[in-house]
Order: sequence, then structure tokens, then C-alpha cells
Amino acid sequence: MTDFIIFLRSFWMSRRAWYRGEYLRSNHWRKFASWKKGQSGYECHDCHAVGAVDVHHLSYDILWFEWFFPWLTVCLCRKCHEKRHA
Ligand SMILES: [Zn+2]
Ligand SMILES: [Zn+2]
Repeated sequence: MTDFIIFLRSFWMSRRAWYRGEYLRSNHWRKFASWKKGQSGYECHDCHAVGAVDVHHLSYDILWFEWFFPWLTVCLCRKCHEKRHA
């Protein structure tokens, strides 16, 4: 699916299902997330373990605009990421 189709689908899917199932698989997000991980040296923001695999949003208001607000995302290892969502 192209990013444009994913964008359009956000209007008729539930936000959560769309975010998890589609947004996180968009080319836009993949590119940004891999850039962000490189920037932080794959280090977890919370526990400083190296090998962080996830990029977490501090705000969902910036979806699609992460390039303009990279400080509103953080690199986290799986454990710390789960804690943030717990
Ligand atoms: Zn961690
Ligand atoms: Zn998260």
C-alpha cells in the first residue's frame, strides 16, 4: 500500500487499528524509524542498553510529521517500550 492510501484509510479505520496495522508499516514511518535508530546509535533512551529496536512516539499529534519533530520520538528497547505503554 502506498503512503497516500494509508493516509486516506486513517479516515475510516479505528485510530488504534490503523496506527498499528498500517501506519507503522508505511514507508514514511519505516524510513523515519530507521533514521532515528541510527541517530541514537541504537541506544535505548530509558535504560541505555544498545540494541534498541523500537521508536516510540511521545506525541501522536505529529504522525506523518516526525521529520519536523524528531525530538518527540525516542528509541527504546522492547522492555522499556512495553513499560511506557503499560
Ligand atoms: Zn531500555
Ligand atoms: Zn510506543
